[in-house]
Amino acid sequence: MNALEVHSLQARHGLLAAVRGIDLVVGVGERFALVGANGAGKSTLLRTIAGIHPAASGRIVLNGEDVTRLDAHERARRGIALVPEGRRLFKSMSVEDNLRVALSARRAGPWNFDSVLAAFPQIKPKLKAAAGSLSGGQQQAVAIARALMTNPRVLLLDEVSLGLSPAAVQGVYESLGSLFASGLALVLVEQDLQRTFSSADRIACMLEGLVVASGRVGEITREEVTGHYFGHRARDREAA
Ligand code: ATP
Repeated sequence: MNALEVHSLQARHGLLAAVRGIDLVVGVGERFALVGANGAGKSTLLRTIAGIHPAASGRIVLNGEDVTRLDAHERARRGIALVPEGRRLFKSMSVEDNLRVALSARRAGPWNFDSVLAAFPQIKPKLKAAAGSLSGGQQQAVAIARALMTNPRVLLLDEVSLGLSPAAVQGVYESLGSLFASGLALVLVEQDLQRTFSSADRIACMLEGLVVASGRVGEITREEVTGHYFGHRARDREAA
């Protein structure tokens, strides 16, 4: 059974169709990356999968169950976790209390306080500190740890490296690398193509609310992805 299926999904911001009919399938334990220029609809897609933004039409299926009509909290309880762009921590609360927020949506599974702190050792000495006092990389680690505490089947990561130093990005990705043995499926939005190619099993390129190309890493080339990123390839096809 697939971890996540998205069928003909559409989502709007008022009159703007930001997601215009997306189909995608993510297998158990698969790392799936979405790339595309600013405004392509990647964040709206992740937010709609998580139930934070309403679907205009289409279906979202988690582990065989249609969750399209469920609210965000119910989806979290069934195993969808989103790490949103900008992290959205409670900055004046302690790191520990930020992690506790996840307990209300917690499923049974391997992730708890001890195991997330083992995966993200950089936050262990900071448990009592206000989340807002941590470095950007540490805050990102807290945001991912908080999402993991719910024991998700599918982890949605929206631009986790945005605004971080190269060393902090490296730290976050090293921690992520250890997560997949448990069968967790990942949907990743990442601007850094090199990082995307080294972290994902499969890549889909989004342009103007649509998936315009997708393929397994090793089959799809960086050149193809870059072309689709800026829409050159779509225009070349139309011109041919
Ligand atoms: P970015 O990398 O800049 O976050 P993205 O690929 O994630 O881009 P979205 O943020 O999903 O794209 O935006 C898709 C479209 O929806 C864009 O045209 C954007 O301007 C528009 N949009 C996004 N959020 C809103 C909003 N809250 N209200 C109105 N329009 C929005």
